[in-house]
Amino acid sequence: MTEPGLVELASSLYQLRIPEGPAHLLNSYLWLGSDGVTLIDTGWPDSAALIERALAALDRRRADVVRIVLTHFHEDHAGSAAEITTWSRVEVVAGADDSAFVSGERRGPLPSLTVLERTIHAESAEPPHGPACRVDREVREGDVLDFAGGARVVSVPGHTPGSIALYLPDADALLTGDAVAEFNGEVILGVFDTDRVTAKLSLAKLVGTGAQIAGFGHGEAVLVDAGARIAAATDPFADVPERS
Ligand SMILES: [Zn+2]
Repeated sequence: MTEPGLVELASSLYQLRIPEGPAHLLNSYLWLGSDGVTLIDTGWPDSAALIERALAALDRRRADVVRIVLTHFHEDHAGSAAEITTWSRVEVVAGADDSAFVSGERRGPLPSLTVLERTIHAESAEPPHGPACRVDREVREGDVLDFAGGARVVSVPGHTPGSIALYLPDADALLTGDAVAEFNGEVILGVFDTDRVTAKLSLAKLVGTGAQIAGFGHGEAVLVDAGARIAAATDPFADVPERS
């Protein structure tokens, strides 16, 4: 059994690499609080065993998980949430405008792919849902969750309608979900967005946190000057302007 890929980003904050599956450098995150563990995203539908091994490596158990925060409904982020709710009395938190897609009440929107995105991601007729998972708490911009010194919800629509990021004051860290990514050393606008224009506008809100550290849904974390790095984010998968 391989050791889970855990990286300590700050005291109590760990990045967990999810190695399986087709996605680019997929991550979830763990916050080890005095009252229990918060998971931020849960990997693919088959990632629960990996998360359990990560907990064990951190001297924690399944029953220690008190909260799951889902940055958005996609299956590489919400995938194992339903299974993990069976481990303990856990509160599932999601953005209000993605909640119905997480719970399976409604079909989520398809990403609108650019020409370049289509070269790395097959177009699909099915929205990328994970297994349906109940949502106990719907959150909006400015809501505060009781961990990490008062984790603040930043609403970052665009990748999906209800995408959220979290700013964790105790770690001066931002967890962006797929609003932003790291790709080949560059901080970039997240790809496979429902609405790219809105996604770009959401970046300013993340910059506004002034966070030092950023952990992305995909790619390597940034440990210094994350706000400035996100301010300078590039968009290498943007549509090439059409020639007239
Ligand atoms: Zn996504």
